[in-house]
Amino acid sequence: MQRAASAAYSPIPGSLRSSWGLLFSLASQKPKIRRRRPVLVKSERTFVRRLLKWYQGNRRDFPWREASRTPYEVLVAELMLQKTIAIKVVGVYEAFLEKYPTPAALATASVAEIMGDIEVLGLHVVRAKGFKELGKKILDEHGGEIPREKDALEALPGVGRYIANAVRCFAFGEDAALVDTNFSRVLGRVFYGDGKSLPPGKPDSWVFAQKLIPRGRSREFNYAVLDFASKICKAKGARHEACPVNDICAFVRP
Ligand code: SF4
Repeated sequence: MQRAASAAYSPIPGSLRSSWGLLFSLASQKPKIRRRRPVLVKSERTFVRRLLKWYQGNRRDFPWREASRTPYEVLVAELMLQKTIAIKVVGVYEAFLEKYPTPAALATASVAEIMGDIEVLGLHVVRAKGFKELGKKILDEHGGEIPREKDALEALPGVGRYIANAVRCFAFGEDAALVDTNFSRVLGRVFYGDGKSLPPGKPDSWVFAQKLIPRGRSREFNYAVLDFASKICKAKGARHEACPVNDICAFVRP
């Protein structure tokens, strides 16, 4: 009798076949690689926990922080915020997005027109050229979508490590560290007692900031440090007395 095509002959008895199949599929599966959680010392854990708590009652709200923002909108905000105070960006951000809602709109606009729309931010000639180039590159090389990979982001005009990580963190929810002068000042003061930044010879700021990020909460943590640097641990006139980590801060400890 001709066998049915689906019931191929096997030397293994039928009752064992399913067990063999299961064993084989388990053996051929790649082991899952779990990223090991960095071990924080007590002061680091305390810093993270208190900053997150402080943030709950002290967060700053900006239009680009709304959860519904697209990666393009987050990227535009980060480019505008470079070397510019937030209040200036608030003044132009939403009107800019209304006029240029997509990378395609930037790509087809004239540099002169973009310049006029962002004049108040300063550096408007460079920025306007950058925005147009950005629109074209995203359109030509990424089909109009913002890439989420670090290397692809860093290859966009005007985008360095900080902005790439900001987009990965705030738009794509990845645990990506941010380090700018404010971050560096806070971490340097709290953990090394240095007034300006992480001192030479100490762990690289990016590695250190990455280590502190609580898994799955980088958005909250990064905003917390940014707001803390702006409201409490300011470059000039730091408010040590109102600081939630003044008992563990190496900058003020005797
Ligand atoms: S105690 Fe002062 S220097 Fe230290 S983190 Fe707080 S505000 Fe900054």
